[in-house]
Order: sequence, then C-alpha cells, then structure tokens
Amino acid sequence: MAIPVLLLAALLGLCLGSFLNVVIARLPVMLMRGWRAEARAALELPEETPPRFNLATPGSVCPACEAPIRWHDNIPLAGWLKRRGRCAACEARISVQYPLVELAGGVLTVAVAALFGVSWQAGFILAACLLLLAMAVIDLRTQLLPDALTLPLLWAGLLYQLAFQPAMLAPAVIGAMAGYLALWSFYWLFKLATGKEGMGYGDFKLLAALGAWLGWSFLPLILVLSAGFGALVGLALQASPKRRGMPMPFGPFLAMAGWAGLLAGNELMATYLRLVI
Ligand SMILES: [Zn+2]
Repeated sequence: MAIPVLLLAALLGLCLGSFLNVVIARLPVMLMRGWRAEARAALELPEETPPRFNLATPGSVCPACEAPIRWHDNIPLAGWLKRRGRCAACEARISVQYPLVELAGGVLTVAVAALFGVSWQAGFILAACLLLLAMAVIDLRTQLLPDALTLPLLWAGLLYQLAFQPAMLAPAVIGAMAGYLALWSFYWLFKLATGKEGMGYGDFKLLAALGAWLGWSFLPLILVLSAGFGALVGLALQASPKRRGMPMPFGPFLAMAGWAGLLAGNELMATYLRLVI
C-alpha cells in the first residue's frame, strides 16, 4: 500500500474517531431521553419539551464550563495536545478518552487500508471496526450496549456476506443465531444458579453480530479471546485497590476479539486450531 494512501487513511481515521467521540458522548443521553419520554407517556404524565439534543445539535461545549469549543481546538488529536488536555476557557481537564478514541480511529483505518486496500469491502470492514470502537467505549462508560449499534452491526454483517462472499451466508446466519443463543443460555443458567445477572442482553446481540461477520466457526475463538482479554484486565484491576470489585462490562472484550477476527481472522484461526488440535 502506497504511503500517501496510508497517510490519507490516518487523517480520515482521526476525523472518524472524532465523530465517534460525539456518538459516544451523546447516544446514551439521547437513549435516556427517549426512555424517559416513553415512561412519562406510559404513566400518562404531561409531555416534556426539552431543548433539541441529537448528534448535530447543540454544538460541542466544554463539559465543565459549557464554553463552546472553537474549531481549531476541536481538530482531532492536535486540539487536545495543543491545549495539553485542558479547556481553553476554564482550564478544566478534558478526558484523555477523546484523543484516545481519535487515535484508535486512525489506527483502525490505517490497518484496514493496509490489509484490504481501498474498496467497498474495506469500507464495510472499517465501518464494523468503528462501530465496535463506539460500543466498547459506551459500554465502559455506561454499562450499555445500545441496540442502535449492535443490531445495525448484525444486519450489516449479513449484508457483507451476501455482497462479497455469498458462500459464507449460511455459516454467518448460523453464527448470528448460535452467538445469541450461546450467551442467552449462559445468562439464564447463571441466573438460575446464582440469582445474579452475569451479563446483559447487549452482549448476546454483540456476539450474534460477530457471528454474522465471521461465521459460526469463529464463535469459540471469539469467546476464548474475549475471556482471555477480560481475565488479563481483571487481574490488572485486582492490583489497584481503588478499582477492585468494580463491575466489568464484557462488551469491550468482545469488541477486541471482533477486531482481531475482522483484521487477522485467518491467521488467528490457523494458530488457534494448531494449539487446540
Ligand atoms: Zn471549560
């Protein structure tokens, strides 16, 4: 892959990451507002008319002082670095999550361009990788895996197979069903045995989506990888007394396994089979 193409991919990825930051910050708020409006309607309470709030309105503001963020402080990565992670108006710290998500967007886009070139197929894979990024961070922050992200990922996976590798369609449909039902069964067994909820319905839908993208034969590998990533991070958190016992969402680990499967599926599968058999 030519260097200029990779540079363009990096710039595009940083901008896409910047947009993901908006989705990550606003989608959960939009969902909460929707649920609140539905609950009020069900209780027959008078309708509220809160100010408009969606991905485009209002413009970006500092979370601490609500000063509008000027365009040149909003440039991906550079804006945060220039201000050393502080608001230009009130000097409040701006979370390192913003540049990290932008950077992750850049890295994923470069990886997809390097591995798959510039094509419709690459565009689909990039969209899947970025959806996974948004889901991972939203799950970390809010313990939610919104249907608004998991379900489009699932359907896009089936569309991807139909458009680019029709022979994979049947394994993908089985993968989606088996992914959902595997975690659904685990959830109910765990709940009947312990009375606790080990994971959420969003996790089932996310595994179903990964099954649709990668086919049923990848499901064991995805579960092994995500459990492995989860165990590593769990051990690291045990070491820090402040974080010990904190509930840990499963979505980010499923997302990591999903990236691995989407970007290096064949190599991973070959290694896995060699280790298992
Ligand atoms: Zn501020």
